[in-house]
Amino acid sequence: MPRDMATLFAIATGQTNILRYDLFALPQHLRPLLSYWWHSAPQRHRKITEAYATIIRTATAEHQVLMQAAGVTNLAKHDGFRVLHRTDAALAAALKSAEHLKEAYGVAYKAMTQQELLAAEPALKFGGVGGLHWLDPWPVSDPGALVQAYADLFIRSGGTFVSGDAASLQQTSGRGWRVATDNGPMEAEHAVVALGPWSERLMRGFGYDFPMVRKRGYHKHYRAPVTFNLPLMDAANGYLMAPMSRGLRITTGAELTYHDAPATPQQLERAQELAGDLIELGAPVENAPWLGTRPCMPDMLPVIGEVARHKGLWMHFGHGHQGFTLGPTTGRMLAEMMDGETPFIPAAPFRPERWTR
Ligand SMILES: Cc1cc2nc3c(=O)[nH]c(=O)nc-3n(C[C@H](O)[C@H](O)[C@H](O)COP(=O)(O)OP(=O)(O)OC[C@H]3O[C@@H](n4cnc5c(N)ncnc54)[C@H](O)[C@@H]3O)c2cc1C
Repeated sequence: MPRDMATLFAIATGQTNILRYDLFALPQHLRPLLSYWWHSAPQRHRKITEAYATIIRTATAEHQVLMQAAGVTNLAKHDGFRVLHRTDAALAAALKSAEHLKEAYGVAYKAMTQQELLAAEPALKFGGVGGLHWLDPWPVSDPGALVQAYADLFIRSGGTFVSGDAASLQQTSGRGWRVATDNGPMEAEHAVVALGPWSERLMRGFGYDFPMVRKRGYHKHYRAPVTFNLPLMDAANGYLMAPMSRGLRITTGAELTYHDAPATPQQLERAQELAGDLIELGAPVENAPWLGTRPCMPDMLPVIGEVARHKGLWMHFGHGHQGFTLGPTTGRMLAEMMDGETPFIPAAPFRPERWTR
């Protein structure tokens, strides 16, 4: 969370497209936001980054294991993504920060001049003042297809999907946990709460108060006549454009509003205008944008592990902006913990007790 007054003032006065808030909804976000602020202080943030690095560094390797088993290694490129900057000062600050991440954590990047950006992306009308290319991430042009392939692999490996309302979860005196499903009641020794932004609501019913910053985001696809080769972020304006199988996608930054509020895609409309400087977007593919909510913990780390007061009740949520990326890594950690093994990444920074003591 930014802590400098200039950025906070720009957010408060609606001068940035990176974050939008509904003033009336702010009181319900206040406690997690204050905690977010507290955790964003440089020293605490440094410790959080060290813990985060342990899980993010294995993300692509763990996806690769599943992609290979599911037979869909073709669904990810290995070429990273680019960031365009519009002012020399912003580019200099970004390069300084990238150099620090490279030295401290080995994150690979390449600085790009305006001409290099224009040459790499012939669809670009304007290259800003240049930018940088993050080399390690793997863009996925159809995340739905990838997740479906993982689901099919789960079934081939003996797994079963059954639908039901998680709110029916109860502790029993017998096997441990019972939930009502479309196929009747189901009992198990262990239950995993993996409800993303809905997890905190369920856990409140069991007496656990997990603070969560629920950041809404929108995306929409466009029939760009010439698309990008790799995802490109317009850093100054807080949105990302990505070549997807359905078209060129614009994804927005964060919106703080009520949990079930109707869509207010103002950031997307603004991003669409701003993107017009950079590329010919073409006609939209969908009439209405997709919206989703990022489940962010105030300390920016997911919650993984068994809760203290309910044996066999496991948490797996709070992955924020990177749940799709981190799923295979934290899922493996959780499975190893449930089997009584030592997880392949130390789990202490992610334990539920940090919120529920
Ligand atoms: C605009 C946007 C862009 C994003 N981009 C990226 C990205 O590029 N890379 C990345 O890694 N991540 C990205 N994310 C974040 C990512 O989507 C989340 O971190 C991830 O979806 C969290 O996964 P999850 O399984 O914990 O929760 P979810 O995906 O939210 O799944 C929770 C599920 O629980 C179900 N559920 C809720 N209540 C009940 C109930 N009572 N009973 C039964 N089921 C219930 C819901 O229907 C839902 O299917 C993005 C998010 C947004 C909003």
